[in-house]
Amino acid sequence: MEIDWNTIDRKWQKKWLENNDHEIDSNNKEKKFITVAYPYPNSPQHIGHGRTYTIADVHSRYLRMKGFNVLFPMGFHYTGTPILGMAKRVEANDAELIEGFKTLYKVPEDKIKEFVEPVKIADYFHEEIKSGMIEMGYSIDWRREFTTIDPAYQKFIEWQFRNLKEKNLIVQGSHPVGWCPKDQNPVSQHDTLGDVEPDFTEYIVIKFDLNGIKIPVATLRPETLFGVTNIWINPQVMYQKIKVNDEIWITSPECARKLEFLEKKIEVIEDVLGSDFVGQSAKAPHSSDSVLILPASFVKSDNGTGIVMSVPAHAPFDYQALLDSKSGKNKSINSDLLKNIQNIEPISMINTEGLGNIPAKDIVEKMGISHQDDPKLEEATKEIYSKEFYEGILGDNTKQFAGKKISEAKDEIKEWITKTGSADILLELTNSPVKCRCGTECVVKLLSNQWFLDYSNKDWKQKAHRCFEGMNILPNEIRSEFDKVLDWLRERACARQHGLGTKVPWDKEWLVESLADSVIYMAFYIISKYVNKKEINGNDLTDEFFDYVFYGEKDSGEIANKINITKEKLEEIRNEFLYFYPVDSRHSGRDLVPNHLTFFVLNHVALFPEENWPQEIVVNGSVLMAGKKMSKSMGNIIPLRDAVRKHGADPIRLTILISAELLQDADFNVEAINGIKNKLELMYENSTKTKAEEIPELEPEDKWILSMLQNLALNVSQSMDKIRFREALHHILYDFDSELQWYLKRTKSKQRTNISGILHKTLSSRVLMLSPFAPHIAEEIWEKLGNSELASKSAWPSSIGIEIDSKSIQTETLLKSIIDDINNILKVTKISPKKITIYTAEQWKSKAYNSILKNVLDGQTNIGTIIKSLIANKETEQIKKDPDFVKKALNDILSEPVELRKGRMNVGQIDEKQIISSELSSLVKNDYDVELSVFSESDSEKYDPKNKAKAARPFKPAILIE
Ligand SMILES: [Zn+2]
Repeated sequence: MEIDWNTIDRKWQKKWLENNDHEIDSNNKEKKFITVAYPYPNSPQHIGHGRTYTIADVHSRYLRMKGFNVLFPMGFHYTGTPILGMAKRVEANDAELIEGFKTLYKVPEDKIKEFVEPVKIADYFHEEIKSGMIEMGYSIDWRREFTTIDPAYQKFIEWQFRNLKEKNLIVQGSHPVGWCPKDQNPVSQHDTLGDVEPDFTEYIVIKFDLNGIKIPVATLRPETLFGVTNIWINPQVMYQKIKVNDEIWITSPECARKLEFLEKKIEVIEDVLGSDFVGQSAKAPHSSDSVLILPASFVKSDNGTGIVMSVPAHAPFDYQALLDSKSGKNKSINSDLLKNIQNIEPISMINTEGLGNIPAKDIVEKMGISHQDDPKLEEATKEIYSKEFYEGILGDNTKQFAGKKISEAKDEIKEWITKTGSADILLELTNSPVKCRCGTECVVKLLSNQWFLDYSNKDWKQKAHRCFEGMNILPNEIRSEFDKVLDWLRERACARQHGLGTKVPWDKEWLVESLADSVIYMAFYIISKYVNKKEINGNDLTDEFFDYVFYGEKDSGEIANKINITKEKLEEIRNEFLYFYPVDSRHSGRDLVPNHLTFFVLNHVALFPEENWPQEIVVNGSVLMAGKKMSKSMGNIIPLRDAVRKHGADPIRLTILISAELLQDADFNVEAINGIKNKLELMYENSTKTKAEEIPELEPEDKWILSMLQNLALNVSQSMDKIRFREALHHILYDFDSELQWYLKRTKSKQRTNISGILHKTLSSRVLMLSPFAPHIAEEIWEKLGNSELASKSAWPSSIGIEIDSKSIQTETLLKSIIDDINNILKVTKISPKKITIYTAEQWKSKAYNSILKNVLDGQTNIGTIIKSLIANKETEQIKKDPDFVKKALNDILSEPVELRKGRMNVGQIDEKQIISSELSSLVKNDYDVELSVFSESDSEKYDPKNKAKAARPFKPAILIE
């Protein structure tokens, strides 16, 4: 039966809206507060965005059916530079961008013209995204909607910032940031192409002296200065002689540019070729000795300063380059110089257990490296570096540092060199090139006198760790990622010069950055309802107001007076905050783990008392389009609203959820969506065929199908509680089908006409379980089933109110397995049956079987031990007659699910002969059109021409087909 999805979608969305079903206020029920990262409206949503929101919606709807008062609100994040960048591109008539707006997103042309104003872009896509969310059936309380440039929100962010500053968590200082030289703005993940967080590392620059000119070498291992034998320069590279503040340096041009962003005044004097320095000597800062400057091709101009010091005992590159120099093959080395080079020997200065005196030599030889451009040198370097860092002890030639571990002495040595005035720092991106959304390559900038969130603060980190420990993280495997992020976090610039947003309250030239104004807004959903209802005026809000709502500080009457509301209203807001906070579940995509989600926790622990700390984080993976990553360049982005128009909301919701559990990538493809549609259409069709008739006195198969239904309810509820939605959906949609088929087969063979009530009950329960996932079609079917209440307002069927009937499970399992066996025999022998005879096992076998079963359940599966105990017992000693029986029965038991074994133990012996005779004859007649005879192995009068009866075992009767 084909379904008009869009009509059904609209019908139920209208009904929910009329009932205000998703408008949630505080009441006397237990609450749940579910939030999801709000969207950034610079384009419409596509299928990929739909995943996180759909998961959060299913979660909300499920908890509502479980009886909770669930608030699921939504806001829109206007803050930041990307929208600004877009407006500029529209202004510049960027053909690619405008074409995308027209063809992919179908934005009317007159609208595109308005997009030169950033707010117009945000407003347009805000409405577009909101419409999509409504069309997807998300159960959002839209009365609480806001944007981050609303006056009330800005007051809220000002309060947040002043509060953090008072706690010394926003500090002014000089710290490195990722930086776009064109925009003159710090950049983080949201500002870059491909959403990469710029990552950087700090090099120590040690300045050697060449007649007053500085030869700076950059290193991550300043301690190895004690092992320096020479300096390497690339003879082919055109270096620059530059003035750095008051000194003259020789560096690569790339380094000169990097230095500009590190608060240094740079003046280029002239270009100088690397080879000009070969053969000269420079003085090291730690001794009166000079070292030779030698040529090396492995030295790259874009790395560090473009010049390195050589520590051949501990650096494989240096060791190999020294060998190359000594070989005499290098043409830029003349014969005089070559003589001097022959005198250079590695200086060992680190002792590490398990490594030789000259570890670089050993590893170069072990790896069979023969020249300095061999890529294996990278691996060799890493291996030695990490071993020496953790286990190395500084040797006697390192003066005051002798005997110390590298990992401990590193910072001391850094400080010591810095004091000599011969050191500096150089910051470099480790994941370059990182490009800003404007297309410019990012650099590391030392930002001075800037506002930073002090995420390096140890107490703050500690508190956040404590919060994470008490939190539910789904899936739990991602927990360690949060710990790592927290440990590595450092000061983070929290102000920007351009973009939409809130001004830093004490420094109005700066705007609060977008990953700083989006971390505690869940609390604002309480307030926004009153702003939107015009019960409070956003412009009136003061810090005192927020202190009262969030902390209960000071006198409500006085504060209310100042902001022109009644004391009662203010107290109502406070109470609503107390009711809904803390956040019970925060949903987001995995890409926000290293930033937003961690900042969300950090800011909550800084600003709210412990009872209001977040309770749970749920992280999901992305959506692939027919196995491929979605991207504009691949042309495989499907806007969500287009997909809803084409397929309906529910098929999309299910397709996104059924292909993957949380962290895996989900796949969206046409076959999957068609499969889902067929399945839902079938359920819909079935709903028109059953009626809520009275359920008759239960027959064995009725008891069984209801037990199975009860099992289903338990399993689905368990999966739902763990947000294992893929698993839950499979249970609901598919797992029950084979059970239902068996039930129909059984009842048909018995020519029963009174099963409508039972079918109605099973379908009703499944539809209720489906309701959080496919809310529209579930309501439609629920209505067809004759219900006047909404499915979404019904109680979740955690239990269908029936006790699981273990005996009927054993009975039906037995009958099913006999039918399976008959079918298998027929398949193998290819005979058309004329007569079927079944033999059930005799009494002593049942006793022995139960004894073996008990052994297995007690953990005893050793066949020798089991046989011994059986023989020792009078009741079962007969197994001596048939020792093979024990082995087979043991295998029967081990091949069955543990649950079934336990049930069998509880139920004890069942009268197989009686059950098979009374329940299976009609089925055999129906399926094969033959008569069924049943004998016990012990019957003296049995028909047994092929001597089959002796093969019978409990739950495994012998079968003769003729
Ligand atoms: Zn830029």
